[in-house]
Amino acid sequence: MSPIKKVTCHVVSAPVERPFTSSRGWLYKTRGSCIVEIETADGITGWGECYGPSAVAKAYIETQFAPRIIGRDAFDVEVIWEDLYNRIKDYGARGMVTSAMSGIDIALWDIIGKACGQPIHKLIGGAHRTEVTAYATGLYFIDMDRLIEEAVEEARDYVEQGFVAVKMKIGLGDPKLDIRRVAAVREAIGEKVRLMVDANHCFTVPQAIRLGRELEKLDVEWFEEPISPEDIDGYVEVTRALDMAVAGGENEFTRWGFRDLVVRKAMDIVQPDVCAAGGISECRKIATLASAHGVECVPHAWGSAIGLAATLHFLASLPDQPPSFRPMPPLLEFEQCENPFRDHLSREPIKLERGKVQIPTGPGLGIEIDRSVLDRYRVG
Ligand code: CA
Repeated sequence: MSPIKKVTCHVVSAPVERPFTSSRGWLYKTRGSCIVEIETADGITGWGECYGPSAVAKAYIETQFAPRIIGRDAFDVEVIWEDLYNRIKDYGARGMVTSAMSGIDIALWDIIGKACGQPIHKLIGGAHRTEVTAYATGLYFIDMDRLIEEAVEEARDYVEQGFVAVKMKIGLGDPKLDIRRVAAVREAIGEKVRLMVDANHCFTVPQAIRLGRELEKLDVEWFEEPISPEDIDGYVEVTRALDMAVAGGENEFTRWGFRDLVVRKAMDIVQPDVCAAGGISECRKIATLASAHGVECVPHAWGSAIGLAATLHFLASLPDQPPSFRPMPPLLEFEQCENPFRDHLSREPIKLERGKVQIPTGPGLGIEIDRSVLDRYRVG
């Protein structure tokens, strides 16, 4: 029994030195997050994180969720999840609502782990692996006059750091330019490094299929978010038309949202985000649903050390898809753009070693939060 005493949202934001963009077009000038801190009456502190606009997550938590969970037992994490969901579902329970719930869910799992002296992966069935291969997410668009050169330099840098897989952004409004840029990166990193592309849903179905056929020749492993996430029929078309894997789902939420994607096999790989889709509890359910339908689950991650640690425990708990003599386990998305919360919020940073990242073994999330980072970047 660990009664919840207090819920605090820390909204933090840090400037980005070299603003970058994807095919979405908006410029990332800051990195921020809504960090959730939950304290229990027996003196345990759990940490969670919400994906997306942090002030919105904070508003949901402070006005809707915190009053409902004070006094309840943190061990009732899934009972609490169902209660919060049922409280809010009449108003459209997806998007930022589930991001807010995700932050609470992760913090509760952190508390349970600390109360038991066990890492989260031990509480959700155990670890299938002690480390995961990471792919570098980067190669955004920064210098519009050097789009190919900057991508080549950045990709080479990741390989020098030890990354064995890299994901690059595409969607420059000119498929021929996209292909030239991907081809230049492929040539620079060689055939051994795994390469994925992410269009952030900027193409139509025919554009995605035509471009996908060219990308297959460059040995691109998966085509992420080729088209708009609302168009499930379109995803079915693109996925059937291409030999390469199609991925998506970072903007989908809960088991019910993912049900429609996996039942129709709209994509080969679903990418729920533990800080958005409903937390560790819900992502476990989404992964089970995907596995029952022969769809891979490779989580999306774009957050602080808290989101990264939560993703690592979730990844540790996912079986090989499929199990085999030499399996190809799911990869960790290790986003590499400027982000002090990923690099410094944990006193012991989560880092790449020989292309892999260790699954944390300490109690709960297995990281210790540096409060001075929260104080330094606090908003308001
Ligand atoms: Ca993405």
